[in-house]
Amino acid sequence: DFNLSECDPEVRSIIDKEKERQFRSLELIASENFTSRAVMEAVGSCLTNKYSEGLPGKRYYGGNEYIDELEILCQERALAAFHLDGKNWGVNVQPLSGSPANFEVYTAILNPHDRIMGLDLPHGGHLSHGFMTPKRRVSGTSIYFESMPYRLDESTGLVDYDMLEKTATLFRPKLIIAGASAYPRDFNYPRMRKIADAVGAFLMADMAHISGLVAASVVANPFEYCDIVTTTTHKSLRGPRGGMIFFKKDLVLGIDLESAINNAVFPGLQGGPHNHTIGGLAVCLKHAQSQEFKNYQNKVVSNCRALADRLIELGYKLVSGGSDNHLVLVDLRPLGIDGARVEKILDMSSITLNKNSVPGDKSALVPGGIRIGSPAMTTRGFTEQEFVSVADFIHEGVQITVEAKKAAPGSKLQEFMKFVTSTSFPLTHKVSD
Ligand code: PLP
Repeated sequence: DFNLSECDPEVRSIIDKEKERQFRSLELIASENFTSRAVMEAVGSCLTNKYSEGLPGKRYYGGNEYIDELEILCQERALAAFHLDGKNWGVNVQPLSGSPANFEVYTAILNPHDRIMGLDLPHGGHLSHGFMTPKRRVSGTSIYFESMPYRLDESTGLVDYDMLEKTATLFRPKLIIAGASAYPRDFNYPRMRKIADAVGAFLMADMAHISGLVAASVVANPFEYCDIVTTTTHKSLRGPRGGMIFFKKDLVLGIDLESAINNAVFPGLQGGPHNHTIGGLAVCLKHAQSQEFKNYQNKVVSNCRALADRLIELGYKLVSGGSDNHLVLVDLRPLGIDGARVEKILDMSSITLNKNSVPGDKSALVPGGIRIGSPAMTTRGFTEQEFVSVADFIHEGVQITVEAKKAAPGSKLQEFMKFVTSTSFPLTHKVSD
């Protein structure tokens, strides 16, 4: 029984370097966080050794008495963390991650080629909400289902609900998805419920980015209006990498959601659950019910506001003019630069964030903005004051990029920028994660 340093110094060394990188950088990617030592202990435990296809009490292998106990505990904690009673809501904690969770929902309630509507990816949506380009069906969720995106009103940066309503009336989707990877505002769930009801569609929320904020009741609650809610577990919720699907224990549009979703997860699309992840998730969901967690989520939001306010003070244009949640989207186009170069310059200074398309981008190849999130650095103890400094540091990186753009051909600065961009991966659109 060798430890990692003895049996594989190569992998040990890579892990050490990554740990050092995480430690040294300002981590501002809105979908990332630092999970706790307790979660990592569970994830790195013997739970990884066990096969347990099926659900508690109905497994395909023996030896699952403790795994059953763990999964039931995790389910109970998941419902409690989101203030749900087990009579009306159920949860499946086995999805391997957010994208599989979404595909499992579609498999459960749709037939191949049924119609879905999600927020368009260049306007902040996620690949797994049916993303396709004019040339290509990119995501399996647009290959196997017919997808018609809804979009933002480019003048306000807010979801264009009127247009969604009009399009839904014509397109008559079977599923409407509320949720995003790069949307700084709350969704209007009551309005979306009305639209879904009017066209006979299911309403699903994908709260992946905001699930920690939902658990702490610091943003609007999708459970009040949706039939199904999916989430990843490693973003603002601060757990291990995984996914969950919450469903109404009801017959909705003629479908028994509980059995349809459970069957879509297994045997539909997955095999054995990752029990080590379920162990880590149970730990995270216990914590999610604590006052400390609520305080943390409040700080995630107030830190993000401090960041947004400072950026506005510095003259930046934010999509939607600010933020209700954990992220801001900065539109860099008024400065004549794009997000890709700023991302690279900041990366060189150990400031990690991502380029992001912003509404109105002419080409998805050159995203005009950057996305900045507060969860990870709030976990590391940053306060509003530090987030003001973060805005100032980002401003420095942006100024360098602006200067470089103006630099004379052949100047040192322009050569430097050439070097910077040539060492980067191609400056193509990077899909928000
Ligand atoms: N849904 C949303 C809104 C997301 O932002 C993401 C990922 O960032 C996912 C789903 C997919 O999660 P995963 O990367 O775990 O598949």
